[in-house]
Amino acid sequence: MASDLRREQLLLRAGFLKEQGLDYVLDRPELHPPGKAAGAGKHPSKPGGDVPEPSAEMAAGRALLAQWETAKECRRCRLCEGRKQVVFGAGDPEARLMFIGEGPGADEDAQGVPFVGRAGQLLTDIITKGMGLERKSVYIANIVKCRPPDNRVPLPDEAAACLPYLKAQIAAIGPEVIVTLGKTAVLYLLGIETPITKVRGKWLSYEAIPVMPTFHPSYLLRNPAAKRDVWEDVQKVMAKLGIQRP
Ligand code: SF4
Repeated sequence: MASDLRREQLLLRAGFLKEQGLDYVLDRPELHPPGKAAGAGKHPSKPGGDVPEPSAEMAAGRALLAQWETAKECRRCRLCEGRKQVVFGAGDPEARLMFIGEGPGADEDAQGVPFVGRAGQLLTDIITKGMGLERKSVYIANIVKCRPPDNRVPLPDEAAACLPYLKAQIAAIGPEVIVTLGKTAVLYLLGIETPITKVRGKWLSYEAIPVMPTFHPSYLLRNPAAKRDVWEDVQKVMAKLGIQRP
């Protein structure tokens, strides 16, 4: 039991967490009581043993790890044929805020991390400069985990095949608020087919989690004037989460 837990810790630290940019989770001092070694978790060790009880973030990390272990070899839909790698998601397994986009582009496919291209930089700016948060404190994922050819919109059967991964991510993380980016995320996560202009800025719900739809950062690159609308939407999210404007 103890060796199993230690093996899981090593797996989390050396594999999944590092690849997803999550390895900081077990080393963040603010997540651990004073005097405990980094990585020891939030709960005290059992008397007489040096193996800590799994912390909440480790439990969430484990759940994500299990999904990632399956997803990285996934061939459930045709998008596996053109991918360099699966882009599972990145961020804090205990994030209060989750962003959901459409699917990986070329940069994401190359790096294995969501939202790292030009649109990704814009999303990062929204999170860091707009909301005053660290990017690694939120969780970012997509409807599909493999790059659609020519960056086309995922087809319904592709989204349906991939959605269980996203649902499992949401279940593991348990965000207090989800922000969907663009029409595709609203369509496939919530089953609402409507122009994004009709729903952005209005609170929706997924499994009792408040969902704020807004424009996709790629749209903002083409239509910078829409940044004002996104800022309005983001302010509603900040108010819901009690985040003060920096
Ligand atoms: S897009 Fe999703 S369902 Fe399709 S192959 Fe990739 S991980 Fe599997």
